[in-house]
Amino acid sequence: MSLSRRDLVGSLTAAAAATLAGAAQAGDKKQGTSPLPAGGAAPAAPAAPSATGPFTLAPLPYADTDLAPAISQNTLAFHYGKHHQGYATKLNELVAGKEWADKSLEAVMKGTYGTDKLPLYNNSAQVWNHTFYWQSMKKGGGGAPGPGKLADAIKASFGDGDALKKELTQAAVGNFGSGWAWLVQEADGKLKVLKTPNADNPVVLGSGRPLLTIDVWEHAYYLDYQNKRAEYVAAWLDKLVNWSWAESQMA
Ligand code: MN
Repeated sequence: MSLSRRDLVGSLTAAAAATLAGAAQAGDKKQGTSPLPAGGAAPAAPAAPSATGPFTLAPLPYADTDLAPAISQNTLAFHYGKHHQGYATKLNELVAGKEWADKSLEAVMKGTYGTDKLPLYNNSAQVWNHTFYWQSMKKGGGGAPGPGKLADAIKASFGDGDALKKELTQAAVGNFGSGWAWLVQEADGKLKVLKTPNADNPVVLGSGRPLLTIDVWEHAYYLDYQNKRAEYVAAWLDKLVNWSWAESQMA
């Protein structure tokens, strides 16, 4: 994976803090509090984020309204501000005072996979997976990849783009329970579709370079589609899939 640790879990910038604050307020208006002091004067700068640990989320690569109507602002605000942030918060609690606090996110998830440190594994992998999922979508996505090495690899591996979408749909819709569907590139350059349960991803499984992922946990779509996962997956592929991100992740 070619994202650096800085990209994945960089320092929480003012912009990220603002994004998080906005997401949290959109997600739970009851807890929204005015940042203004009693006197009414605007603060000179956003409040510094509370230091909660080494793992902080990069900001979403788009506004939380940008993926609507395929994914509503409500879903995106909850998914990023509550679910993704929740995994990071829990991870920080788990690493506090331990050697893991000095390791990269990828090192934590690889080092705890298949061990008895299941909470550490689950939360670190879920932080990683969601960061990759946000990048796998974009405003005005969908359609077909433009000419280039991704389009060539899709043709060589699946025959055509419709065959790839059919496989991705089967993996996403057919993944029983919570998990993820992935497009990966194997060592020989060929592309493959796979599905993983819960927090598992191709990085820890050693099953290829991730190019795209679709989150099929119910929290990714239930507010918009209820139980109709197939409609969410169809909209994801038609309106959101970010082919240029996938191509950027190829070897
Ligand atoms: Mn999710």
